Amino acid sequence: MIALSLAEIAAVVGGQTHDIPDPSVQVTGPVVRDSREVVPGSLFAAFVGERVDGHDFAPQVIEAGAVALLASRPVGVPAIVVEDVQTALGALARHVVRRLGATLVALTGSAGKTSTKDLIAQVLQRKAPTVFTPQSLNNEIGLPLTALTATEETRFLVLEMGARGIGHIRYLTDLTPPKIGLVLNVGTAHIGEFGGREQIAEAKGEIVEGLPSAQDGGVAILNADDPLVRAMAPRTEAKVVLFGESAEADVRAENVRLTDSGQPSFRLHTPSGACDVTMRLYGEHHVSNALAAAAVAHELGMSAEEIATALSEAGTLSRWRMEVTERPDGVTIVNDAYNANPESMRAALRALAAMGKGRRTWAVLGKMAELGDEALAEHDAVGRLAVRLNVSKLVAVGGIEASWLQLGAYNEGSWGEESVHVSDAQAAIDLLRSELRPGDVVLVKASRSVGLESVAQALLEAG
Ligand code: ATP
Ligand code: MG
Repeated sequence: MIALSLAEIAAVVGGQTHDIPDPSVQVTGPVVRDSREVVPGSLFAAFVGERVDGHDFAPQVIEAGAVALLASRPVGVPAIVVEDVQTALGALARHVVRRLGATLVALTGSAGKTSTKDLIAQVLQRKAPTVFTPQSLNNEIGLPLTALTATEETRFLVLEMGARGIGHIRYLTDLTPPKIGLVLNVGTAHIGEFGGREQIAEAKGEIVEGLPSAQDGGVAILNADDPLVRAMAPRTEAKVVLFGESAEADVRAENVRLTDSGQPSFRLHTPSGACDVTMRLYGEHHVSNALAAAAVAHELGMSAEEIATALSEAGTLSRWRMEVTERPDGVTIVNDAYNANPESMRAALRALAAMGKGRRTWAVLGKMAELGDEALAEHDAVGRLAVRLNVSKLVAVGGIEASWLQLGAYNEGSWGEESVHVSDAQAAIDLLRSELRPGDVVLVKASRSVGLESVAQALLEAG
């Protein structure tokens, strides 16, 4: 972070200094909320959680080198005391971001935020120093903490923004106002909390509403293939750039196909030229993510060649998303257990089919959460697709949704032993341990709440 004195921080957040002998002492960063992350020069933000109260760590964090705490009560060691630590953290992030010379890129969507954020970061890093959200720290606490890690050298700050309701994104864009705002897609994630897709679109579109006007350099990057995202164009005064496979898209992909190893390959068209891309990531859903990243990079002055090279070399930065590992005995495990929705299930199955040509393929699948009334039909459709793609075996894991997966497969192909329904992850592990043969390819995927990564991990250890 940029160095700031305690006096300056107190002024910015409207706090009182307590037990601070010298307010000119500087915080050199980082700002952390986990006592284990404190290093000399840190500012420790003390949050009161359900089980832990950050204030209880006051002596420890000072001992570990923290300059002070940002706290909601005096703690007997140096602290800036504020009414609300989260609000103060936000105010500090807003202040720091204003002083930075960095261009802010913010993105949201129902699925693919983290994957796309990682792609954008890997592309932009080739041009200039880039700071980006670690993992999925995309809420009102993670976002300011990320922004505060930027320094004077930072040229690009790439921020993932998550929304669980109306007004959430607006709150985040007020803290760290982006110049480029990107919306990936509007799916069904968290549909229960929102009430419907239109409400989700309403909430996600807030990211383009506050952008600077086109004259002032604001750019809204929207998915041309998603009608609810396209429809956000009138909500912004920024320049609108469309990405997708549609012919009208400014940044688009042509000749999309999967290589024999399941990696997407396509011709990237940008307003300044075209170039071929073959990704190292697996699954065709990454085409859309890559186009979004290309649109950002193009707006920031990168050429089609530079973008295509960067996209072709980009790897995964985040765990459990189409992580492909080959065991010494030649069994390939595809761990996509981070999360699942109907689109990504289809993409993962297609990647499995492409990867498994001439090999035995296993789809170990669990439920896709938060689908509301569409749940039965969507699970049924995934089961059917597994059969149509000639997946050799389906192992459906869990409760009622797993039986819908199995039923879909059964109805599509009158499958018998090719599909099994097991009650939990352990049962799946036991089954696979005894059945897997060298050369098999195993896809493991379900919604986050199922936690199927345990299956992938156990299978890797078994190798
Ligand atoms: P979260 O809300 O949990 O932070 P996210 O939006 O950051 O999720 P990712 O972590 O990138 O999304 O991906 C989650 C899962 O969504 C991946 O495992 C992948 O299967 C799927 N996915 C990734 N990109 C897309 C996409 N463009 N369309 C549909 N599904 C996708
Ligand atoms: Mg994420």
